[in-house]
Amino acid sequence: MNIVSQNLRTPGPTPIPEDIYAAMSDPMINHRGPEFFDLITDCTEKLKQVFMTGKDVFILTSSGTGALEASIVNTLSPGDKVLAASAGSFGDRYADALDAYGADVQRLTFEWGEPVDPEAIRQGLQADPEIKAVMITHNETSTGVTHDLQSIAGVVKGEFGKLLLVDAVSSLGCLPLPVDGWDCDVVSTGSQKGFMIPPGLAFISFGGAAWAAQQSATMPKFYFDLAEAKKYLDRGQTPWTPNLSAMYGLRAALNNILDEGLEGVFDRHVSIGQFTRDGVRRLGLELLCADEARASNTVTAVKMPAHIDGEALMELMRAEENVVLAGGQGKLTGHIFRIGHLGYVTEADIQEVLDALGRVLPRVGF
Ligand SMILES: *Cc1c(COP(=O)(O)O)cnc(C)c1O
Repeated sequence: MNIVSQNLRTPGPTPIPEDIYAAMSDPMINHRGPEFFDLITDCTEKLKQVFMTGKDVFILTSSGTGALEASIVNTLSPGDKVLAASAGSFGDRYADALDAYGADVQRLTFEWGEPVDPEAIRQGLQADPEIKAVMITHNETSTGVTHDLQSIAGVVKGEFGKLLLVDAVSSLGCLPLPVDGWDCDVVSTGSQKGFMIPPGLAFISFGGAAWAAQQSATMPKFYFDLAEAKKYLDRGQTPWTPNLSAMYGLRAALNNILDEGLEGVFDRHVSIGQFTRDGVRRLGLELLCADEARASNTVTAVKMPAHIDGEALMELMRAEENVVLAGGQGKLTGHIFRIGHLGYVTEADIQEVLDALGRVLPRVGF
């Protein structure tokens, strides 16, 4: 098995550019010393640019889910009512985490493959004034749908002034998400998707109404206590030992992203998303997301044609074509496959996927 030559097209982890691997092999430093002060100060300042925010941004050593957990325990108390909008497996998972910490979760669910309807959120908030916060997944990785966060934020913040918690793990750094422009209180993401670095870091923006909520939030917290994180960040440190190697990679990645320019990064994802969807349709396959305007530019979910053994398809793609696709999650298992096209990806990488599918599909009876 030649892992080096794999065309890894899962929606995270993504492949890593050579210069980032190189940066990550720098020697260890004292995380209470001046070198780390420079590293975290530089990374935090540049992350704020990518988040398009003047709010606080923290770097956590965990996968993306750690930031989601931080968003919950730092803003809520057990029993708080939260409207959890979900149209897929990641939306459900965020809601499950709220449940685990004792929030009173009001689930607002949509068909998997459909976008979350801002009007339904408006009605939900109108119907129950006791709702304190709304939870939303910006880009539902399990279905390849980008929800209309701008309109949703307009309702949640603009009309009702509720707290808005956003899972942006597969969108931030790829799709436009102006955190301050859209007035999002808490936005969470992870390192292994749009940022082109390995798994192991999570980033979270936290500000405005979130700090006010933090004052009274009584959910248990320790590792992800953001008041601690802020106290330490003010002196250029983290409360606990950080993932230094991944942070070296982060510094290199942020320089690359800002050199390219955020508009350039967003445009690149628009083109690659369109290129992927056009190519998939040309093969005679159907997309799960029927609404082209909401189709994700970071991951495409493709309906598994009837009578096709999806496991056999993906195994042939991996073993003979070195292309690693992702299957469906939850109730979509066996019904779709997914192509990741976020972070470090070129049209040539996607063309390889399409060519390989063209060879393999007839062999599994398509
Ligand atoms: C990948 C992903 C997560 C989970 O992140 P981990 O890094 O695996 O903890 C959460 N939400 C979305 C939308 C994702 O794509």
